[in-house]
Amino acid sequence: MFDFLVVGAGFAGAVVAERMARCYGKKVLVIDRRDHVGGNAYDHCNKEGILVHRYGPHIFHTNADQVFQYLSQFTSWRPYEHRVLASVDGKLVPVPINRDTVNRLYNLSLTSDNEVEAFFASRAEARPSVRTSEDVVVSKVGRDLYEKLFRNYTRKQWGKDPSELDALVTARIPVRTNSDDRYFTDRHQAMPKHGYTRLFENMLDHDNIRVALGCDFRYLAANVHYRSLVYTGPVDEFFDFRFGELPYRSLRFQHETLETEYLQPVAVINYPNEHGYTRITEFKHLTGQIHKRTSIVYEFPSSEGDPYYPVPTPENAALYKRYADLAAATKNVHFVGRLATYKYYNMDQVVAQALTLCKHLAAAPDFALSAEPTTAAITAGAGLRAVSAAAG
Ligand code: FAD
Ligand code: UDP
Repeated sequence: MFDFLVVGAGFAGAVVAERMARCYGKKVLVIDRRDHVGGNAYDHCNKEGILVHRYGPHIFHTNADQVFQYLSQFTSWRPYEHRVLASVDGKLVPVPINRDTVNRLYNLSLTSDNEVEAFFASRAEARPSVRTSEDVVVSKVGRDLYEKLFRNYTRKQWGKDPSELDALVTARIPVRTNSDDRYFTDRHQAMPKHGYTRLFENMLDHDNIRVALGCDFRYLAANVHYRSLVYTGPVDEFFDFRFGELPYRSLRFQHETLETEYLQPVAVINYPNEHGYTRITEFKHLTGQIHKRTSIVYEFPSSEGDPYYPVPTPENAALYKRYADLAAATKNVHFVGRLATYKYYNMDQVVAQALTLCKHLAAAPDFALSAEPTTAAITAGAGLRAVSAAAG
């Protein structure tokens, strides 16, 4: 008998498992249908020995001291400030839009915040209310910069026009009047020194935690005894798509290793317009690894494939609300994470959400009850391809 069955070994699942085991002595079984821990943050050394992120670039950044301190128990960090360039009109320009973006694209030499502010003001289109992702950009910088940098990128990435998407999508990207070319301005910006997978292994390395990989909840649930379920997979799938499928956007990743030390000047170059892919990431910039070759990944957005992004539109929000109500009424099952709560969350937000769930769980009246020892609990032939302490 386990106290908790945790479905998904990404950030949401790993945090809950770690807190429940380490702080409260609970017995936890973590399962994942993939053959590795880490969820979408998983990284590994490829056959050339270069550390790459299988599911696209993951850069850790947060303003939440509590989240950074929490994760710092499981990793040391490599300070890293992310920089992105976009390939537009045959030039490489900084993203987010800043003073240099404007100067390079329009052959100007604006030198002060005021001048850049005035440039944006002369182009911006007033919008009575800022509801959509188009409104966000056009109301700040005008239509031309929107067309050059945002419209096509967003159509590719989401399969929808920015005018159909909630404002929160493009509002993730600020607009600057200075020359700050960092992608993020958060207080904490760093990469786990030995990679994300090692961080997860450290989190899950506890006597009270068992990890079963290659193991789908649908086939396992009936064979494991547990008191409570923590579910981090897609919420619509949990309820057998009762109200219809929630749209998730997917990506196809094309990984390559090149016979050159570096391909590009920064970790990520965005291709808003002419290409089928949205961006190329060169991992050595993120990890600081020294190697005579370099590994890159192209991202091709797709409606087919693993669910990566909830798609923020008013219709999807309404559909999700129906699932959220059902989830809230489902006893002993706790939904947490990006797929289970259908939220376009970064890693730090998922960690914060999972830590909050743990506090709630611990405050429940019957929480002190503990399960039997776990050793005999995993029945042979229950669908477990691998049962191991993740640190293995
Ligand atoms: P996931 O990591 O998706 O983990 C859920 C796990 O549940 C998966 O491993 C899945 O296999 C498993 N699962 C689902 N259903 C079942 C089932 N039925 N049975 C068994 N297992 C199941 N965030 C940042 O902060 N910075 C970034 O730079 C960044 N870049 C990103 C780039 C890309 C391309 C993507 C897609 C996301 C990025 N993110 C980034 C977001 C980040 O990936 C998520 O916030 C985070 O990984 C979510 O963690 P999670 O545990 O909620 O979900
Ligand atoms: N975006 C864009 N052009 C860019 C960068 C971002 O249009 O050069 C838009 C696009 O809609 C994207 C959103 O802003 O999905 C958020 O960008 P972010 O880099 O945060 O996306 P993520 O890393 O989550 O894929």
